[in-house]
Amino acid sequence: DEVATMMDVPINKVIGACMSLGIMVTMNQRLDAETLSIVADEFGYEVEFVTADIEEAIQDAPDAEEDLKARAPIVTVMGHVDHGKTSLLDYIREENVIAGESGGITQHIGAYGVKLESGQRIAFLDTPGHEAFTAMRARGAQVTDIAIIVIAADDDIMPQTKEAISHAQAAGVPMIFAINKIDKPTANPDRIKERLAGMNLLVEDWGGSIQSHDISAKKGTGVKELLEKVLLEAEILDLKANPDKAASGTIVEAYLDKGRGYVATVLVQAGTLKVGDYVLAGKHSGKVKALHDERGNVVKEAGPSTPVSVLGLDGAPQAGDKFNVFEDEREAKQIAAKRTQLQREQSVRTQRHITLDEIGRRIALGDFKELNVILKGDVDGSVEALTDSFQKLSTEEIQINIIHKAVGPITESDVLLASASDAIIIGFNVRPMGNARSIADKEEIDIRTYSIIYDAINDLKDAMEGMLSPEM
Ligand code: GDP
Repeated sequence: DEVATMMDVPINKVIGACMSLGIMVTMNQRLDAETLSIVADEFGYEVEFVTADIEEAIQDAPDAEEDLKARAPIVTVMGHVDHGKTSLLDYIREENVIAGESGGITQHIGAYGVKLESGQRIAFLDTPGHEAFTAMRARGAQVTDIAIIVIAADDDIMPQTKEAISHAQAAGVPMIFAINKIDKPTANPDRIKERLAGMNLLVEDWGGSIQSHDISAKKGTGVKELLEKVLLEAEILDLKANPDKAASGTIVEAYLDKGRGYVATVLVQAGTLKVGDYVLAGKHSGKVKALHDERGNVVKEAGPSTPVSVLGLDGAPQAGDKFNVFEDEREAKQIAAKRTQLQREQSVRTQRHITLDEIGRRIALGDFKELNVILKGDVDGSVEALTDSFQKLSTEEIQINIIHKAVGPITESDVLLASASDAIIIGFNVRPMGNARSIADKEEIDIRTYSIIYDAINDLKDAMEGMLSPEM
């Protein structure tokens, strides 16, 4: 009703306007930004967004080319359970691929950096798996530059391997395959590469462009060479950041330590973080009291691509929250407070993700060019049939991307991917499993299930033509 008061029009007219747009609202509901603009427009008003202003003020100004310096790649390890992700991360952490550093890394701070004999650095996120990767992305954090996909050579391309590949691809993050467990007599790396080729993923041995290396995470065989391939990929990506400015980056993890207060591991992505800086991270802020590296050593500052643990925040931000350094403590505190307030007001969260019902309207508004779809089915045949049909529905106005397809129920990981990539989920003869439904409700992800192929295709077609009647 605030909207109505501000525009000086009767509340029922505002509700009516929303309904004519196909949006059901109640009197006390907050409207999302887009709806607000359209409704205001109907009554001849223009909307200014205060929240957007706050967040924009935080945005970095673009860097001048000459200020940009090469930075280390940030790597996430993904793959099917038991294929050796943890073993690989542990080997890299503990063994002497790290030149000139005494002892292995003993502290688990959520990320660690290694220095190779060449002097080059790589940063690893220490929470393996595509769930963690995509959960961060769903919070708006794109941290990973390169994904290592671990595949056990004594096994096959497993469901979670496929998921990991889809998640990396959906994020546009280049992959390197680590074909693991080659010390085992039953290992057959060639078969894995053949299977990958069958999925249109051609590794270098097969004349393709995707790097891969045979390794044993347990014995350490090939790990050094794998890391060299990571650096090669990084070189191609030409990763750069400006180290000479106030720091910004992403929270990797945070917790309350009884003796030390809140401890947050951050990954600096631009600028240099220093002791004494005023930091804003999510809804929390504070002055940096101390910085520690993954070896527990005190450090004075941390530049781009460096993970570092921070003491001094007044709370524990969430993994995936952005952090920024402010010149003025008051400003950092004010924004933190404003965010807390906004979040409280938005406890009834407004629509953020695309739904089938909304597609027609969004196409008409002209701001919608691609529809991302996650497709799950009971058998391979139906998944392939639907993939073909959906792809044929693409038009000049709108392109349909199947960002992940697989046989099996709709999982939490599918919902996370949908959230991170703004996708809808279509299930054919399958249903959401475990917590998938409740997370989808919370994230407002549209899940549609069908048992007749024709119905699924028709719904999508109608939605694209803006003719779908809202699902009740
Ligand atoms: P994750 O679930 O992907 O993190 O897999 P883990 O790293 O926990 O490994 C699962 C199992 O495979 C453990 O028992 C490891 O010891 C074993 N493993 C991992 N890498 C290798 C390897 O290179 N060779 C052999 N023989 N076993 C391995």
